[in-house]
Amino acid sequence: MHHVILGAGPAGVIAAETIRKHAPADTITLVGDEAEPPYSRMAIPYLLIGNVKETGTYLRKSLTHYTDLRIDQVPGRATTVDTQARTVTLDNGKTLAFDKLLIATGSHPVRPPIPGMDSPGVHPCWTLEDARAIMALAKPGARVLQMGAGFIGCIIMEALAARGVELSVVEMGDRMVPRMMGPTAGGMIRDWCEKKGVKVFTGTKVEAIEVATNEPSGIVGKLASAMGLGSSEPAKGLRVKLSGGQTVEADLVISATGVRPAIGFLKDSGITCLVGVLTDEHLQTNVPGIYAAGDCAEAFDKVSGKTIVSAIQPNAAEQARVAALNMVGQKADLKGVTQINVLDTLGLISTSFGNWEGVAGGEHAELTDKAGGRHLSLQFKDDVMVGCNSVGWTEHVGVMRGLVEGQVKLGEWKERLMHDPTKLMDAYLASAQGQGQWAGAADERRR
Ligand SMILES: Cc1cc2nc3c(=O)[nH]c(=O)nc-3n(C[C@H](O)[C@H](O)[C@H](O)COP(=O)(O)OP(=O)(O)OC[C@H]3O[C@@H](n4cnc5c(N)ncnc54)[C@H](O)[C@@H]3O)c2cc1C
Repeated sequence: MHHVILGAGPAGVIAAETIRKHAPADTITLVGDEAEPPYSRMAIPYLLIGNVKETGTYLRKSLTHYTDLRIDQVPGRATTVDTQARTVTLDNGKTLAFDKLLIATGSHPVRPPIPGMDSPGVHPCWTLEDARAIMALAKPGARVLQMGAGFIGCIIMEALAARGVELSVVEMGDRMVPRMMGPTAGGMIRDWCEKKGVKVFTGTKVEAIEVATNEPSGIVGKLASAMGLGSSEPAKGLRVKLSGGQTVEADLVISATGVRPAIGFLKDSGITCLVGVLTDEHLQTNVPGIYAAGDCAEAFDKVSGKTIVSAIQPNAAEQARVAALNMVGQKADLKGVTQINVLDTLGLISTSFGNWEGVAGGEHAELTDKAGGRHLSLQFKDDVMVGCNSVGWTEHVGVMRGLVEGQVKLGEWKERLMHDPTKLMDAYLASAQGQGQWAGAADERRR
């Protein structure tokens, strides 16, 4: 049995290891299109801060890990999949035949169609190669403008701030982290960042990026330049034009404007794709024997009954594990696609769980203490908490997750929470006990 895995990120690596564990005699080929050993993008912020070296981002530390497990690493980018012939073609002309195929190609950053995006000094922050370019420019005191203040954008911001740069953030949405936080929470995060010295522009688009040359100005400057005095190389920088009419000077522009599943090569393959590669609860696509996992997959979430692309690493890891078990003939189901985001924005902790925006016909309870930097927003459908947001509220993270993921029926506690959202722990202990949701509460009480 030959298993071919496309993509050597966390999903690809975990799938390869799981297959090896359960099918010692099978052949495993792991195809990767990046020059480095498999690494974790999640570790890039730690590299930017200087907490780890590049080797610290590698998913597995032993140089012989993959050969020890008889996982053949093949460099190349998949360009087509032939589901009839059951082959994959790579950009280097190689063709690989497979019995089982896993698509684990992750996502790639969206490149906004802005004039000047190709200018030197404009980078996404997605790969180790990007991180190297960013580190070369983000020196203490450098002027850095970041486009996008979503989940990943805020993580990058934290790392940039630690590098001592002068930071501006431009977000098209009306608030920071708009796809994770409601207006009050987003506003609190913005106020916090501004207090920390970050210039935040929300409801603002970058309209153009121009390369600036500091030509000598004024008659004295021009004369000095003509006489060969001063630097012969005019200092360069970037001039970023914003929709509000402002211009921001920058040495580095980072584009963090969202990601899309890297599945363009599946066009015309017959594998059904929506936003991501559509999979069932076994992570199998519409083509038997072909699976998808991780950022590129649109996975079936039993909890909500919907398919979801959820570009976070815990989901990539779990989907890879479930897909791999099914690939070796062990039936396994994906229980759910965790919709959790816990964010540390320059020291301010915020969370979002499940349907944090609420659902049709639902009810909503909110508590805000702006001065104390605390906010809780709970969303209910009948007596179940279907989602929530919090800012500065770290003590009940396990309970929030338990209530939302466990779809715990709160009974009378729902009304009590509507009046006092802080009673989350009491509600959890009273309601979850009889519904097999004990573990999270017990963990929380131990903390
Ligand atoms: C800066 C940053 C911080 C992050 N922080 C967090 C965090 O705190 N928490 C969290 O949960 N998540 C975080 N993430 C997201 C997390 O990194 C992803 O969810 C995770 O990498 C998904 O793993 P994956 O294996 O599905 O995809 P990837 O890690 O993207 O791996 C896919 C691999 O496939 C390769 N590939 C693509 N197309 C092809 C092709 N056609 N042929 C062959 N190979 C191909 C890609 O180049 C890549 O090497 C962060 C991401 C970034 C960039």
